[in-house]
Amino acid sequence: MLEISEISVFYGDIQVVFGLSLRVGEGEIVTLIGSNGAGKSTIVNTISGILRPSKGEILYRGKSIARVPAHRLVEQGLVQVPEGRMLFTDLTVEENLRLGSFSKSSRKHFPARLRYVFQLFPILAERRRQTVNTMSGGEQQMLAIGRALMASPKLLILDEPSIGLAPMLVAEVFRVIRTINEQGVSILLIEQNAIQALQLSSRGYVLEQGHMVQEGEAAELLEDKNIKSAYLGI
Ligand code: ATP
Repeated sequence: MLEISEISVFYGDIQVVFGLSLRVGEGEIVTLIGSNGAGKSTIVNTISGILRPSKGEILYRGKSIARVPAHRLVEQGLVQVPEGRMLFTDLTVEENLRLGSFSKSSRKHFPARLRYVFQLFPILAERRRQTVNTMSGGEQQMLAIGRALMASPKLLILDEPSIGLAPMLVAEVFRVIRTINEQGVSILLIEQNAIQALQLSSRGYVLEQGHMVQEGEAAELLEDKNIKSAYLGI
């Protein structure tokens, strides 16, 4: 689904990603872990076409995305749930979901996708006419995921979906991610909550200061001494 080969990313003169490679196979959940400022969001925004790498290549379903604008990538099923949710808080739940299906092809499927999202998140159906600024953090995170699902993703990138949520809601978010994956969506999960993310994943990558320092099977990473002490607090 996604093949990143040795990309470098700069903000002006400052390099924050150094020759990084990463792969997400069809049907996989892959986790990228890294501490604050490691470069996780920069990578997400580069995959989504918001930033451009100065070197290296990104292939989505076998094709280079170097010249594809971000909104076209969404139409092709590469969809991001951004860090901080980026919802329109003065609008209602349903209006936010409608904005998730802005492309011509998604608009056609709006009623069916809305039914699907409401089935996955019954709380959103209950709150469909409520404005977002009156909702809890957990409900807002569900809405951010729901909005991404309105675009019928083939590859869903979730940037720190569990951040700031109470443990019960974190478990709920991870349960939903598993369900979405079982329904055929490949997933790149960016997380600081390393244990739960790796438990859900087949493989993982570890990012430190813009460098990929480790990669492997999720089960192996969960057992790795360095990762345990650095990221799992064990
Ligand atoms: P967090 O978990 O805190 O969101 P992150 O791993 O997502 O961190 P990034 O937000 O990608 O990290 O930031 C990586 C580095 O790039 C940091 O040193 C950050 O200060 C820097 N950076 C991010 N955005 C910009 C920008 N617009 N201009 C300049 N530097 C930036």
